[in-house]
Amino acid sequence: MSAKILDGKSLAQDLKNTLRDEVTSLKQEMGAVPHLVNVMVGTNHSACAYAKAQEKAAQFIGIQYELETLPEDVTQEDFSACIKKLNDNESANGIMIHKPVPEHIDYSEVAKLVDTDKDLEGINVTNIGKMLVGETKIIPCTPASVMEHIKSTGVDLYGKEAVIVGHSVIVCKPLSLLLLEQFTTVTVCHIATSEAGRLEEHVRRADIVVVAVGKPSVVKGDWIKEGAIVIDVGINQINDKIVGDVEFDVARKKAAFITPVPGGVGPVTAVMLMRNGIEAFKAQRKKKG
Ligand code: NDP
Repeated sequence: MSAKILDGKSLAQDLKNTLRDEVTSLKQEMGAVPHLVNVMVGTNHSACAYAKAQEKAAQFIGIQYELETLPEDVTQEDFSACIKKLNDNESANGIMIHKPVPEHIDYSEVAKLVDTDKDLEGINVTNIGKMLVGETKIIPCTPASVMEHIKSTGVDLYGKEAVIVGHSVIVCKPLSLLLLEQFTTVTVCHIATSEAGRLEEHVRRADIVVVAVGKPSVVKGDWIKEGAIVIDVGINQINDKIVGDVEFDVARKKAAFITPVPGGVGPVTAVMLMRNGIEAFKAQRKKKG
């Protein structure tokens, strides 16, 4: 078997086309488009690349996108003041905080300040809670991208075994909820699973495997079940090459569907941010009446 490669660039383009149509209709209906602000500290290269991808996606869709850059030595107080100012700015519909932030900044404290109605990444604890009970359309961007890839396979998820490797707050925990909502049986593996020597047995029985660890080949290709869906979130730089967390060349011979790295989950993630921006804009307009 040779897996179908889930092409993130093409999926991202399809999603962008749909969102562009939606923004065109919103503009006609309301005479306004969503206005999103990305707060970034310094000029970190990888952060800049992601910001550029967001800007390009926003331009295509017709969303107003603004980059607010803070100096590397910004204080916690000034960072917080910037977020509060954006919360109060009626013309800004969505806020995101670009990671990484410098070590002297407490990211979780800043994340708590983002107005729940403007929280583009779903990082505010209130929104995380709302997601648990299905009360928000704002879904963290990377898990949302993973779900779009899985959806694009057309496979019925009901009753399937899903195994997530990694238990981060930003990717894996929300993803476990999203997969649970689809009635998959979800197993979340982490460092202790690996240390107990049990990662392989979990991956071997998975119909859907999602890996978000940040270690090349943490999942071996021959562990993949025949016909599985493999979603690789990991991004690792080896010399001048970017690779994922799954041993791709071997895994693709066993899986039915697999995402490449680069060009898989990443391109869709920026589009999910735009989708959240549109949802935030619509919810704010509805609230205003
Ligand atoms: P974190 O470091 O927050 O999480 C990594 C997770 O992997 C942790 O839960 C960790 O467990 C677990 N882990 C570490 N080693 C092992 C192991 N040997 N076996 C099983 N689990 C292990 O990273 P992120 O979630 O932020 O990112 C993960 C990867 O995904 C990175 O490569 C990142 O670059 C990439 N990424 C890609 C995105 C995209 O859009 N394509 C977006 C976000 C991230 P513990 O904490 O207990 O050690």
